[in-house]
Amino acid sequence: MGLNVLIAEDDAVSRMILQRAVQKLGHEVLVAEDGGKAWKLYCEASDIDVIISDWMMPEVDGLELCRKVRAEERVDGRGYTYFIFLTALGDREHLLQGLAAGADDYLSKPLDRDELEMRLTSALRVTELHRRLALQNEELEKLNRMLFEQSREDPLTTLGNRLRLREDLEVLRGRAKRYNHSYAVVLCDVDHFKAYNDRYGHLAGDDALQRVAETISACLRRGDTAYRYGGEEFLVVLPEQDARAAAAIAERLRRAVQDLEIPHEANAPQDVVTVSAGVAALSTTGDPDELLKRADAALYAAKKAGRNRVSADGND
Ligand code: GH3
Ligand code: MG
Ligand code: MG
Ligand code: MG
Repeated sequence: MGLNVLIAEDDAVSRMILQRAVQKLGHEVLVAEDGGKAWKLYCEASDIDVIISDWMMPEVDGLELCRKVRAEERVDGRGYTYFIFLTALGDREHLLQGLAAGADDYLSKPLDRDELEMRLTSALRVTELHRRLALQNEELEKLNRMLFEQSREDPLTTLGNRLRLREDLEVLRGRAKRYNHSYAVVLCDVDHFKAYNDRYGHLAGDDALQRVAETISACLRRGDTAYRYGGEEFLVVLPEQDARAAAAIAERLRRAVQDLEIPHEANAPQDVVTVSAGVAALSTTGDPDELLKRADAALYAAKKAGRNRVSADGND
């Protein structure tokens, strides 16, 4: 496989000889007659594998070019460029400085073709390794993102799970504190769902939960979020809504679930799947746990009052 090689050399004859020799080895070549032009070419092309650079050049010298390339790699996340210094006999003392600046190797002047071939063979090996590592890293990052999402999603309903809810509530807590933003929650619980499983079986129960979850999601506006809070419990978070608005939304959800008309003989008098809901709005303490407790108490009141209804915190 051929490499893309950028040659930076201010001496026209050396440049020509080097260019021909590199091309003869089957590689693509770009040439620059000073460090500034080399830098420009490097920035324009995204696929330079190797830079062979002279040390002394006008404008940007080899050392500076090397430093700039290494810095750019860190910032830009672009591929690794194998950097080779051209050194005349008198330049040897510079070599350590060059390696410290990030160079990989050096090539003596006048050019020895065998030496050039060896250097480019190493370059090929190293750049391929870097390429493979970059690909693997990309794969790992993708996998990580996937796992991150999966660990925050309920597999049955694809709603966010409790972990996601925890994290989102922390964000909301921060906003409430800093910007005085408020929000309300609706806690929904399917009525007599144990009896539903007993009568229709667990798989049918799963289907019913999926449909209830879909219905709740479909009722929400952008910015509102539903989570699977527990087995047959769903929590809806409504940013910037007060208790009254949240109660109206809860009523809409309740109605929509009932309208699914999923038969449920043990849930008299409707005989279809229904939910009860408890509503609460954030208090001045801004504490999400306290808010959830109040929503739970409101839900309990809705259950006690006969189910298939909405109860708001403080006025049940
Ligand atoms: P209530 O009206 O008071 O809420 O009565 P309930 O029967 O719904 O309440 P209870 O807490 O006694 O029972 C909840 C039931 O929900 C029991 C459990 O088997 C069922 N359940 C929880 N998660 C799942 C699930 O993922 N799939 C199925 N099929 N059932 C579930
Ligand atoms: Mg020079
Ligand atoms: Mg329950
Ligand atoms: Mg229930």
